[in-house]
Amino acid sequence: MELKDTVGKIKNVGTQRAKLLNNLGIYTVEDIIEYFPRDYEDRRSLREISDLMENTENTFSATVEKAVENVYIGKMCISRTRVYDDSGSVNVIWYNQKYIKNAIKKDCQYMFTGKFQVKNGRREVISPEFEILDKEELLNSGRIIPVYPLTKGLSQKVLRSIIKYTIDNTKNALDDFLPKSIRMKYKLCERNFAVSNIHFPESDDAFFEARKRLVFEELFMLQTALFKIKSYCDKSSSGIKIYKKRYLSDAKKLLGFELTDAQKKVVDEIMSDMSSGKIMNRLVQGDVGSGKTAVALCGAYVAIKNGFQSVLMAPTEVLAKQHYDYFSALFGKAGISVGFLSGSLKKKEKDAIYENIENGNMQMIIGTHAVIQKDVYFKNVGLVITDEQHRFGVNQRKVLSEKGENPHVLVMTATPIPRTLALILYGDLDISIIDTLPPGRQKTETLVVNTSYRKRIYTFIEKEILKGHQAYIVCPVIEENEENDMASVESYGEDIKKEFAKYNVGILHGKMKNDEKEAIMSDFAEGKTNILVSTTVIEVGVNVPNATIMLIENAERFGLSQLHQLRGRVGRSKEQSYCILVSDSKNQITKQRLMTMKRTNDGFEISETDLKLRGPGDFFGTKQHGIPPLKIANLYTDMEMLKLSQEAATEKKRKKDALDREENKFLKERLENILLPKTISI
Ligand code: ADP
Ligand code: MG
Repeated sequence: MELKDTVGKIKNVGTQRAKLLNNLGIYTVEDIIEYFPRDYEDRRSLREISDLMENTENTFSATVEKAVENVYIGKMCISRTRVYDDSGSVNVIWYNQKYIKNAIKKDCQYMFTGKFQVKNGRREVISPEFEILDKEELLNSGRIIPVYPLTKGLSQKVLRSIIKYTIDNTKNALDDFLPKSIRMKYKLCERNFAVSNIHFPESDDAFFEARKRLVFEELFMLQTALFKIKSYCDKSSSGIKIYKKRYLSDAKKLLGFELTDAQKKVVDEIMSDMSSGKIMNRLVQGDVGSGKTAVALCGAYVAIKNGFQSVLMAPTEVLAKQHYDYFSALFGKAGISVGFLSGSLKKKEKDAIYENIENGNMQMIIGTHAVIQKDVYFKNVGLVITDEQHRFGVNQRKVLSEKGENPHVLVMTATPIPRTLALILYGDLDISIIDTLPPGRQKTETLVVNTSYRKRIYTFIEKEILKGHQAYIVCPVIEENEENDMASVESYGEDIKKEFAKYNVGILHGKMKNDEKEAIMSDFAEGKTNILVSTTVIEVGVNVPNATIMLIENAERFGLSQLHQLRGRVGRSKEQSYCILVSDSKNQITKQRLMTMKRTNDGFEISETDLKLRGPGDFFGTKQHGIPPLKIANLYTDMEMLKLSQEAATEKKRKKDALDREENKFLKERLENILLPKTISI
């Protein structure tokens, strides 16, 4: 069989089974081969009937003493018989599996695996799996047994035999696309061996070898494919050189506060990159509220004073506008001209700005995606900054840095992303971390409550307003949705307006026109509105230090890292802040996740916990970032393999024309088959 053949080609797979396989996302022979077990059972040790262990699974071989009889109790069918070996005999029963009667034959020998129990003196094995002992190779007993995720109508036994058959009949098609040199260097077994032993391990060691190889392969392929679309800035290529670092002290004076030690360290790293003569390609990771903007401002200031333009791109108009206000207030004092560019400007306004960007009158340009449009030509951009990088696609970062001749690149993002994922996504960047918050911050107190607390929460919000503070209320969706009772911003906002009739309430969501949005946001920032009811538009980066309380409705709908981002909108001043998560969910995992939010304010810990709670299969963030789901690698535990595969992928990338070499023929083919979505966002 060929890898691309549909499952219908496989023996014993008809339309019915093909459909079931499709349900599992399996369409081709290759899909079958890469449908890896979710678990294994060790059925190597066989017991004698006299030694069966109570209340646990036992595997034993035995001969059927008498034909199976079906007994009906009401609608329930009980199939029973008795089996024996040299040591003794035992009853075996099955519930509601009528077909057993014909499937199990008197005097034949089978391997049974099932739970043994003694009840009222009766020794019974309950609903065991069985497998006849006349075959050459056992699939379901006497060995390490794979356990697969199933779909209704498909049993482990059937799936095992389909997979086994497929592996045995495609061996020749399994070209090893990992070049031998890499296999040797990283001591990886061959693909054929790996595939058979991941499904049907011959031994513990064989399993570990197989898994190692497949994890390496998966991470290696992913990274190699990513490299292809990433703007790989070779760190050795030369960049604009910033000579006069002395301007840094002026920049610091502009800020009006002392940088934290963590900020200082990062600023120093940026300065030494920018003055090294090599291109800077640096990621600044810092938890929400850690003060990334100030760091960016220092970098931009120094670049501008050295005669270069700087650009700052933000993912939303609200955020871009806020950055613009902040930068123009401070840079205004230093005689630096700051321009704002967004899609919502009128053509005339845009044209004027384009001109000023091109002739260099505008030294600092802040905006949304509008800054990477093709009409925008910079005079001499020296530093390109993207804020909240996780909202941008790789391609956008690339376009932005292509706007100049090797400008330095600084990307900023909040922390909550596991280290392994960060390495995959940002493998080509140097990483700086701001690991402390500005002084005087208090931990935002987080409460998890159900909707019966609503009145009390409203009273609490009012108390904060009376102290002169402001409140955010966040709901997950925009329009009225009949299918569920999730609070919608618009109708919910109206309720809030009635509830807080004495106060000013603003309503904000992503479907509004830009100028509307902006007016509402700036009213809130200026303290004209007391409460802002909003969707997650406010999630990213918005800074209103006077807001001290946030209420999040349907909190179970949000990912933990998103909740963390949201919560980061409060707790931005010296005042005690509060975050109230409202959820009626009874789901244990959901409750645990929300309690994590209560327990810690540490974005890194939150992301790790999220990863653990979601468990393997749905690794935190991969989907959100557009990375295809991983079939075998575990981003939580496979750190070591990730590093090795990254080293290998990087080396491959460095070697020019590597993919055209004969030894990489299959690798190249395989890479062409990996489809990464255009929207991978990092
Ligand atoms: P984020 O890292 O989430 O982008 P911001 O840059 O918006 O954080 O900063 C959050 C708040 O902290 C802002 O009000 C900013 O002025 C303030 N801030 C930043 N650095 C310091 C500092 N070193 N000392 C005092 N306040 C600071
Ligand atoms: Mg920010």
